[in-house]
Amino acid sequence: MKHIPRKRFGQNFLTDGAIIDSIVQAIGPQAGDPMVEIGPGLMALTQPLVERLGRLTVIELDRDLAFRLRLRSELDVIESDVLKVDFAAVAQKLQTQKLRVVGNLPYNISTPILFHLLEYVDLIQDQHFMLQKEVIDRMVGSPSTAAYGRLSVLLQWRYAMQEVLFVPPESFDPPPKVNSAVVRMVPRAEPAPVDKRLLEELVQVAFSQRRKLLRHTLGRWLEEKKAYAGNFDVKRRAEEVSVDEYVALAAEVGAAG
Ligand code: SAM
Repeated sequence: MKHIPRKRFGQNFLTDGAIIDSIVQAIGPQAGDPMVEIGPGLMALTQPLVERLGRLTVIELDRDLAFRLRLRSELDVIESDVLKVDFAAVAQKLQTQKLRVVGNLPYNISTPILFHLLEYVDLIQDQHFMLQKEVIDRMVGSPSTAAYGRLSVLLQWRYAMQEVLFVPPESFDPPPKVNSAVVRMVPRAEPAPVDKRLLEELVQVAFSQRRKLLRHTLGRWLEEKKAYAGNFDVKRRAEEVSVDEYVALAAEVGAAG
């Protein structure tokens, strides 16, 4: 029976064979890799992936699609909202220390998915995701550009990231209204040690009014934390501060508290 795409589940199905081949090539699946696919949908990526892997764990929220997926014996189907999935339990079930996570993500919840996975970053070997191109621009954005923000700092702190493929709307059915791209995310081996919650808080405060000087936004926050900016120059805007500087400041504030 034909599946009617459900907008509320962000269902834009990949139909372009050449693009599917390029994505699979970028992922580079090897037999036995402990891989998890988020949102397999109608199996555009699932099929070529599982042919190479042998087995694949898939997470699908749509009940009808999950039913179809369960008919395939090589798939381990988790019928759930990915935001509720405990990836530590998945790794344990697959008897692995490191997962490979892939997916053409539902764009309406792509940022929450990225932050959910950040909680499990120590259990991740790599991630390959199709996302809105604009979101990837923000993820990989450099200081002093419009794309640089909270997403850039928090993700660049823990991952090396690279856009690997541009994907136009015509590659999907139905076509999304935006351009897409595939990003490769590899956790950094030795990220600067800092309290993640504190870094999140700092970046949230700093970018809450990105046009203002940090003296105005961060000043009060630092006072609340009973911390001093030290060498940190607060006569700048949030977007002018590098990831390393944010991390160093959060570490300093953590040490003061
Ligand atoms: N992988 C397929 C493809 O490339 O053609 C489908 C991609 S489609 C953009 C997103 C998929 O994620 C859909 O199958 C949708 O049902 C599923 N999905 C949406 N929200 C989800 C959620 N919260 N948890 C898990 N899967 C979800």
